[in-house]
Amino acid sequence: MAPTAVPVSGTQLNSPAPKGKEALANGSNTAQLDASKIIYKFTTNLRAVPDEATANTSDETICTDHMITAVWRASTGWEAPELKPYGPLSIMPTASVLNYATECFEGMKAYRGDDGKLRLFRPNLNCERLNVSASRISLPTFDAAEMEKLIVTLLSVDGPRWLPKDRAGGFLYIRPILIGTQARIGVHAPKEALFYIMAGFIPRLDSYPGGMRLHTSPDDLVRAWVGGYGYAKIGANYGPSMIAKQGPHMQGFHEILWLYGDKGECTEAGASNFFVVWKRKDGKTELITAPLDDKLILSGVTRRSCLEFVRQKLIGDIEVTERKFTIGELFEAQAEGRILESFATGTGFFICPISQIRHRGQDIMIPIDPELQAGEITHKIKTVLGDILYGRANHSWGVVIPEKE
Ligand SMILES: *Cc1c(COP(=O)(O)O)cnc(C)c1O
Repeated sequence: MAPTAVPVSGTQLNSPAPKGKEALANGSNTAQLDASKIIYKFTTNLRAVPDEATANTSDETICTDHMITAVWRASTGWEAPELKPYGPLSIMPTASVLNYATECFEGMKAYRGDDGKLRLFRPNLNCERLNVSASRISLPTFDAAEMEKLIVTLLSVDGPRWLPKDRAGGFLYIRPILIGTQARIGVHAPKEALFYIMAGFIPRLDSYPGGMRLHTSPDDLVRAWVGGYGYAKIGANYGPSMIAKQGPHMQGFHEILWLYGDKGECTEAGASNFFVVWKRKDGKTELITAPLDDKLILSGVTRRSCLEFVRQKLIGDIEVTERKFTIGELFEAQAEGRILESFATGTGFFICPISQIRHRGQDIMIPIDPELQAGEITHKIKTVLGDILYGRANHSWGVVIPEKE
């Protein structure tokens, strides 16, 4: 049995894809992804590192000097990974990914801490999630721990120059991606795939002045549906969603609040998870977000970290609830003065306060403390998680990348 056929069940990161080599390619003798076999082909042409402002205004994502690639074939398994100069790929026009969107990816960041160290945030969860996505789109799975080692390898090589120690508070964006490369027309699981990892600059998104403003999705568009693949980070979820942000309704708004079903269940804000803090009818303060069980939403690492953190009651007595909730409930709560805060979470936006939601011409306005530029609870969560990202607090969620002195 080829690795593509390995069942990886569950979208909840609490019950992730199987771990370790033993979980893969049952009964198969094809080669596993093995980070220790990496072949180094260093660039002879180190490029100039742009400052943050230049990097963020470029029309093209500026990537670091190197990337890591690994080829998979159904017959032989994973070849030795290579670290090589960042540059164009060569794939045939008939490649599976170009015709049938056999693609999945991850998004994470490496953060330059106040202490000068470079850290990843819970990278194991991203690596496990890529397996969940890969199995949904008929691409091979692999040992998540090996993938994590490859990410660390790329960053130990390019991190010191591209995000030097004097850029504390900065980050590099890391994009691991898996594509079906078999050069054959026909709708079937690809027998060849390419995994690669690149690192580069993306703009900071966590603070819109005055908060993020959401517009609900148009009535005739859905992002994801039950039985679909909203829980998987596969390209097919994102290309078709972009159209929702086009048109005059988006004037003055930043992202779409994706509603689902006749009742208008609140699912995600753009490509981020969506949270509301409100007073329940019984007077209790509650942090609420959409559930994972119907596989509509992506199980964000940031989402999970917020939930785990608030459940530990570290910022006061707040109930944490994962359940379906509708736009109608938000309007009702607004009319009763029960909405306290709202925010979006994800690696791109980190934790981004939301100040307004417009639905069918009516607005929900959410207060934002002008000093904190967030609600009080949002601000606390953001501070605690930010302290872990940037090494101000020592926590097992922050994984230090070894670098040469
Ligand atoms: C990536 C993503 C998120 C956020 O996930 P993080 O792991 O927190 O970065 C949320 N929703 C969608 C649709 C996403 O693609």
